[in-house]
Amino acid sequence: MPDPTLAQLTTRVRAFVEARDWQRFHSPRNLAMALSVEAAELLELYLWCEDAGPQPLNPDRDPKVADEAADVLLCLLNLCDRAGIDLARALERKLEKAEQKYPIERVRGRALKYHEYEAWGEE
Ligand SMILES: [Mg+2]
Repeated sequence: MPDPTLAQLTTRVRAFVEARDWQRFHSPRNLAMALSVEAAELLELYLWCEDAGPQPLNPDRDPKVADEAADVLLCLLNLCDRAGIDLARALERKLEKAEQKYPIERVRGRALKYHEYEAWGEE
């Protein structure tokens, strides 16, 4: 069975929301806040981990990482649906911009922001 597309997942999220009559609560603002909350719940699972240590700290949290990642996607798909954003197209446009900002030959293996390369005498 092929992976579902973003459009198929969005349709399923919309059906889930409408069946519960929750769309009345789902303004873009509220959904953006919910997205931030879910991202924070994901981040919390990694709180106090060391870079070289296990991540998350407790392996019992591993299934929760997938759950919280799914919550983030659910909120993002719902937000984009409500805001009329074609997320797949938006991602393609963003990647094209990022490819221009961060040419491989200039940034490979380095983690500076695009405007910092010149400031650090790299150009
Ligand atoms: Mg959650």
